[in-house]
Amino acid sequence: MRSAIAADLRALLAESEVVDAPAELQTYAYDASFLTQLQPHPPDVAVIARSTDDVRRVVRYAFERDIPITPRGAATGQTGGSVALLGGIVLSLNAMNRILEIDVPNMQVFCEPGVVHAKLNERLAQHKLIFPPDPGSSKMATVGGMASTNAHGMRAVKYGPTSAWVLGLEVVLPDGELIETGSVGSRAKQSSAGLELTKLIVGAEGVLGVITRLRLKLMPIPPARAIVLSLFDVLENAGQAVQAVFQGGISPSAVEILDERCIKAVNLYRPNLSLPDAQALILFEADGNPPGVRWDAEMMSELVRPYARSVEWSDEPTRIAALWEARSVVGAAAGMLRPGSNRAYCGEDLCVPVARIPETLRAIQDISARHGIPIATYGHIGGGGLHPGHLIDGRNPDEVRRVLQVADEIHELALRMGGTTTGEHGVGATRAPFMAREHGPALEVMRRIKRALDPKGIMNPAKIFPSDLPVEQVPRGSEGPVGMPANAEVDYG
Ligand SMILES: Cc1cc2nc3c(=O)[nH]c(=O)nc-3n(C[C@H](O)[C@H](O)[C@H](O)COP(=O)(O)OP(=O)(O)OC[C@H]3O[C@@H](n4cnc5c(N)ncnc54)[C@H](O)[C@@H]3O)c2cc1C
Repeated sequence: MRSAIAADLRALLAESEVVDAPAELQTYAYDASFLTQLQPHPPDVAVIARSTDDVRRVVRYAFERDIPITPRGAATGQTGGSVALLGGIVLSLNAMNRILEIDVPNMQVFCEPGVVHAKLNERLAQHKLIFPPDPGSSKMATVGGMASTNAHGMRAVKYGPTSAWVLGLEVVLPDGELIETGSVGSRAKQSSAGLELTKLIVGAEGVLGVITRLRLKLMPIPPARAIVLSLFDVLENAGQAVQAVFQGGISPSAVEILDERCIKAVNLYRPNLSLPDAQALILFEADGNPPGVRWDAEMMSELVRPYARSVEWSDEPTRIAALWEARSVVGAAAGMLRPGSNRAYCGEDLCVPVARIPETLRAIQDISARHGIPIATYGHIGGGGLHPGHLIDGRNPDEVRRVLQVADEIHELALRMGGTTTGEHGVGATRAPFMAREHGPALEVMRRIKRALDPKGIMNPAKIFPSDLPVEQVPRGSEGPVGMPANAEVDYG
């Protein structure tokens, strides 16, 4: 099958765009999920698309022959979303990486899906503009992947998710038809014309079609920032401090929490930062014009002080950079808590009501203690998003089994708290088993939309919808031991 598909595709595309050497296909067998570390899935063929025409040719070919097709950006996703779990063709979009036009007067940019987020903002900065969604993976993730997962980031608490900044999309549907959402040829910044197809495709994780061009809304770079560092001896006080800031009439541009273990990890990883020990540390950021930012920072300090052991604020760029560095290295630093351990990206992205964060953090520590798996948790506390980092010895099959149980319990905890199993990373394959519980009858409505657009079910199958998922593809903690090769050396970043 592999060589026949490759031969057919070589007749449709340039030779260099079709990859079928087994060693090269192995690089498409993974994303950043624990799932694909345990069970890599190389596709039969990978295509490196260079134009919308290439994408249409491949999709039409796959549609005619009922071959599964999996769109792929930078593969930084943590859910197996860009991996061809049922084989077929992986369609890599990251060579379609041109910024087509920066329309400064209309504050929008037209670009291809493979543009890397940080590179886009570097170019926009020359015009004092910014595309505000800011995932931690900014230096790797593509804007096509961000739109497909509706990526968030630290500043989503003020500026919202990617969906708030996508004005229109060019999309190749599963039968190869090309559509433009958000009104054909429009440069309008708002519209009430018809069903919001843009919002339907954003967050669809590639199951409804392939994004080949994006029209993104921009805003001016805020001229000033300040940061408030607060330390807490009691977790509940940390939660109350966040509520006090919002109730005090302030809209911080970021509110990030590090738990006790994360603070220790950062100090081990970057001793020069010397963060004080505490049950929790919260960074509040204000942005805007300089006097407003100072006022916000002072107000936030006053509002937080009754709950905190200590509060300080700064608008010094070097201090702001140092504190954001502490936050940005925490994912990598977590491994320092258990030398030789791997971080298992599973159950890594719950989001709960803000008022229930302290309770959720304690429950995560209970899960950690019960299964004997150290967990360091950080996240976007302003929006309720939490990222538990599980530290395991990946060579020990029993720890692998236990961490999968931990992930299941964290997903169940999220739903019990009135939250969601994923605040920003998406469903992919890893969270599909929880979608029926999370959505109830609404999942069937999603299913009907999927069938209407993709009657043959070729577009990124085995993602989001649990009924598409062969059970053996998704290791679950409750389904007995799942081992890694004894000599596996896995670096989870
Ligand atoms: C260190 C690290 C930090 C992270 N921090 C954040 C964070 O702060 N916030 C956040 O939201 N996420 C975060 N993520 C997760 C991930 O980076 C995001 O989900 C990102 O948006 C994925 O972009 P990508 O280009 O890597 O997409 P991929 O992983 O390649 O794909 C993701 C999904 O989108 C689909 N897709 C990709 N491109 C297209 C396209 N052109 N058309 C249709 N479907 C497509 C794929 O099929 C897949 O289902 C982080 C990941 C890592 C490794």
